[in-house]
Amino acid sequence: MKVPSSAVALTAASALVLTGSAKPLKRNVKVDDKAFIDSIVIDDLLGCAQDLEDIAYATPGRNRVHGSEGHANTVSYIVEQLTSLGDYYNVELQEFSTEVTVGSNASLTVNGETLEAGTFSFANNGTWTDTPVVNVANLGCDAADHPATLSGAVALIARGDCTFVQKLTLAGEKGAVGAIIYNNAEIGPATGTLGGVNDLIPVGGISRADGLRLVSELSNSTLSSAGEFWQYIANATSHNVIASSRTGDASNVLFLGAHSDSVDSGPGINDNGSGTCGILTVARQLAAAAVGGAIANQVRFAWWTAEEEGLLGAEHYVATAPASALEKIRLYLNFDMIASPNYVLGIYDGDGSAFNLSGPAGSAEAEALFEAWYGESEKLPFVSSEFDGRSDYGPFLEAGVPCGGLDTGADGIKTEEEVALFGGVAGELYDPNYHTPKDNVTNLNLEAFQTTGRAIAHAVATWGTSWEGFPTRNATATLGRRLSPSLSKKKYGPLMKKKSRRGKKAY
Ligand SMILES: [Zn+2]
Repeated sequence: MKVPSSAVALTAASALVLTGSAKPLKRNVKVDDKAFIDSIVIDDLLGCAQDLEDIAYATPGRNRVHGSEGHANTVSYIVEQLTSLGDYYNVELQEFSTEVTVGSNASLTVNGETLEAGTFSFANNGTWTDTPVVNVANLGCDAADHPATLSGAVALIARGDCTFVQKLTLAGEKGAVGAIIYNNAEIGPATGTLGGVNDLIPVGGISRADGLRLVSELSNSTLSSAGEFWQYIANATSHNVIASSRTGDASNVLFLGAHSDSVDSGPGINDNGSGTCGILTVARQLAAAAVGGAIANQVRFAWWTAEEEGLLGAEHYVATAPASALEKIRLYLNFDMIASPNYVLGIYDGDGSAFNLSGPAGSAEAEALFEAWYGESEKLPFVSSEFDGRSDYGPFLEAGVPCGGLDTGADGIKTEEEVALFGGVAGELYDPNYHTPKDNVTNLNLEAFQTTGRAIAHAVATWGTSWEGFPTRNATATLGRRLSPSLSKKKYGPLMKKKSRRGKKAY
């Protein structure tokens, strides 16, 4: 039984160029900062988000996952919005194809009791019966966590800290025939992606509560399990949308990106309809603000596909771009989840002051600009987001491109300290509906949405106008990320704190 690939394959020409007729625009007119920023209004942001929800709900899958009709229609929507602006942008579609899971089964019983189970993308199929469950110590990130008794058994492993691939590799080395990963938050069974085709042992996910209960039972008894995990893989094609302003210095590009795809469990309106609409609204208003004039530096926007499958669309763009083109990007800014219901205002920690992971020269300046905007201009609190490359900026960082960005929190847990700064509910996820069917328009925090949207506009107004004071790209220094030389160089804003809030993707 196999789902035909035509069910998910879309036909489209690669690198389709969609543009109007070129009209010369005047150069080097400064974008009116305040009017431009004020033009980013919640009605437009929310209207866009509603359009994306409508697009998802009009399809059988009610989602916008890479390869789906909902995602194809999302791409068409973005292109229509951009081309309706006349010839301000040169709009390109970059085709991308990869294998995806289009159907799956996850069933698990332990000592005869059926547990709710989830699947991992790219996990290998596996069926087992009457097989002992063996607990793996700590988070299963070290070989020593995996006991010799795993041989012929199913490994029970906690989620967190290291990749699923690492956990499964180590369990497999000890002879485990399968693995059960339990979640690290109360958000149902663990699910995720292994990032690509692999030869790892089969794996399924269960909830944190079930996992902890099994761990406790294993401390004084044995457990026997039966599992059946499989999935159908098919080829899926979708597109990155790239829009570059026709005016502005194309050798000194400001690049903004957001992923346009959702997971398959829902319409993905905070993740990442919010980022999609944030940069789309800014792109639209930039074209309007610059009517009769133009910006000094080229502003390029990208809506990436297949982020949820492992940053695949952005990776494809970076991998296929000539080095000479990547060197012309002065800064890449990423926006993924910018309207979380239980939000914080997060700024990527580009200088490594909070998490000791910094980026190429320019990343610190990107962080500083947003800190000054939130902290000084808007008198708003902000926190640092770990600069871990776990969204579409990852491939850019690896290519040595300076990066920055904003987010409002994903599946991390809000602290009391953050509640004091932003309100909301302590002990709950920043987005309790993360990767669920409930991530629809009602999931958005509108205040956070408009605030981040305007911060994006501020960055465009600033660097679209001038790179003065911003580090130059040094071709010989594009060696990728480095560690911050010293934690003693920490420069915290009064309201910043050290805390990782992400914990999505392959972890
Ligand atoms: Zn996302």
